[in-house]
Amino acid sequence: MLRENLSEVEEKIQAACDRSGRRREEVTLIAVSKTKPVEMLQEIYDCGQRVFGENKVQELDEKIPQMPSDIRWHLIGHLQRNKVKYIVDKVAMIHSVDSERLASTIQEEAKKKDCIVPVLIEVNVADEESKFGISLPEAAELIEKIAVYDHISIQGLMTIAPYVKDPEQNRKVFSQLKQLSVDIAGKNINNVTMSVLSMGMTNDYEVAIEEGATMVRVGTGIFGERNYNQVQ
Ligand SMILES: *Cc1c(COP(=O)(O)O)cnc(C)c1O
Repeated sequence: MLRENLSEVEEKIQAACDRSGRRREEVTLIAVSKTKPVEMLQEIYDCGQRVFGENKVQELDEKIPQMPSDIRWHLIGHLQRNKVKYIVDKVAMIHSVDSERLASTIQEEAKKKDCIVPVLIEVNVADEESKFGISLPEAAELIEKIAVYDHISIQGLMTIAPYVKDPEQNRKVFSQLKQLSVDIAGKNINNVTMSVLSMGMTNDYEVAIEEGATMVRVGTGIFGERNYNQVQ
């Protein structure tokens, strides 16, 4: 059943690429496996999926040693500074950097472990109170501050769009994030590239791809609904 879910998602990604004149290779599918048991992750791995996303440090820490070592793990959820040390050298990318304080902790811990951490700056495009992320107007200034850290590599932007019934309602959010990434790329800041745009989830990833997403984070569409009462 998971195999079918994955192929359905793959087909929709391909269709969205076709509609917008983009190549499939430009879009990375992140299988968001939070709350799901490793048996389910393994099933998706066996279908060829190698990129997984988790939103909690503790869950990542538990799952990484149980899964094959060629998986690229993405931390997509809010990161507390006291947890940075547990994952800084284990993840392929941190999607949720939204403050200079968090960045300076990542810098410190990455220096200790002698690694360079690829990160995205999380932008709260829709300015929702309930969400983490830097506001759209403040993003460029934050990026210029974080760019000085030599153990951090800023590779792009991430947003969590509002929950909406009709994915078309989020098209503007995605196009605004794309525009911001073009504006920031134009500043030619040292140590900053804008090659990654992480946007789009189960409900709206096709629209996100049409608007330029290079990474889509799909959980429910692959693994089914999450049951938060049962797990943890
Ligand atoms: C859970 C989560 C997702 C996946 O959400 P679905 O709607 O299940 O696809 C994507 N991004 C982030 C940051 C998440 O926490």
